[in-house]
Amino acid sequence: MAQSEMYDLAIIGGGPGGLSAAIYAMRAALKTVLIEKAVPGGQVNLSDEVENYPGYTHINGSELAMRFAEHARSYGLEEVNDEVVSVEPGLEYHGVRLSGGREIRTHAVILATGGTPRKLDVPGEQDLYGKGVSYCAVCDGFFFRGKQVIVVGGGDSACEEGLYLAKLAQRVYLVHRRDSLRASRILQQRVTAECKMEVLWNSAVSEILSGSGGVTGVTLQDTQTGRKRQMSVDGVFIFIGFEPNNQLVPAGVRMSTDGFVITDDQCSTAIPGIYAIGDLKEKYARQIVLSAADGCLAALSAAHYVETRKAKMGAEICELPEILSAR
Ligand code: NAP
Repeated sequence: MAQSEMYDLAIIGGGPGGLSAAIYAMRAALKTVLIEKAVPGGQVNLSDEVENYPGYTHINGSELAMRFAEHARSYGLEEVNDEVVSVEPGLEYHGVRLSGGREIRTHAVILATGGTPRKLDVPGEQDLYGKGVSYCAVCDGFFFRGKQVIVVGGGDSACEEGLYLAKLAQRVYLVHRRDSLRASRILQQRVTAECKMEVLWNSAVSEILSGSGGVTGVTLQDTQTGRKRQMSVDGVFIFIGFEPNNQLVPAGVRMSTDGFVITDDQCSTAIPGIYAIGDLKEKYARQIVLSAADGCLAALSAAHYVETRKAKMGAEICELPEILSAR
């Protein structure tokens, strides 16, 4: 063990949920550390347009992420840019072990690790990732200017990303396995109105085809008749939902059959002092505003938990951070 420090709260993940938790935790004077292995903002960074976060009729995803981070930093938040390899619950304290060997000791932990894009699991997908197969239109759309692409999926992500790609590509085919979209009505209307987009109903990609330069096409299967046909395209963008990043969830925490963490209405798990929020948590809908709300709930609950725990332990209350005592 390289180093051992004691915190009130460790937040793992710097997306909207984690950053919102950090804002509330800092304002509650918790000695807080936020650990993020990449850049703050998480999946929001991949969104071209965010149009449903209150207060912004229209904002770029990475700009919104930056504003969340700046807000949290304004309270003097301590950030660690590293990967967490394990969360080890304990009676005296919980341990958060980082990839470099450092261990953080903390009274409470908020797991805000989000999710990663679900894979189609068809031949060609893995090998052609980065060579025409993508899970991020904002990151890779630029390479498909004037080209033909397909977008797989029928949810909000597929429609939003498809609309973004339509600004760059010559033609965007939305491949959906059913005869109606799952996406919100407003996005469905926009897809219908976008002359560069066409929905291929009752269709599934069964193989991604390649040549020397990467993707050359796909094999499409009619989900009703089973008939197959080949289609030439330059790129395949896959948006079929995502899997929760639940690798750090300690044993004893309840999860749904899909691997989402089940919590109470304060985002508490079955282990005292361990919380799960945002896209990692089992819930009705996954939205930025809901992740932010989870972060608020978990931090307020953690503040109460830590206070009660310290009172019991007779420990000293943390000093108020300088920035708060000035207000
Ligand atoms: P989603 O809502 O779960 O939709 C996934 C889509 O992919 C569905 O249409 C599903 O088809 C299809 N699909 C799943 N597995 C498939 C497979 N193996 N092969 C082919 N198609 C498959 O996922 P999402 O669009 O990523 O959205 C995730 C959450 O984020 C949702 O709650 C969504 O509302 C939210 N979100 C919101 C916004 C926004 O409000 N602006 C933007 C993006 C995402 P079926 O319909 O047949 O199941």
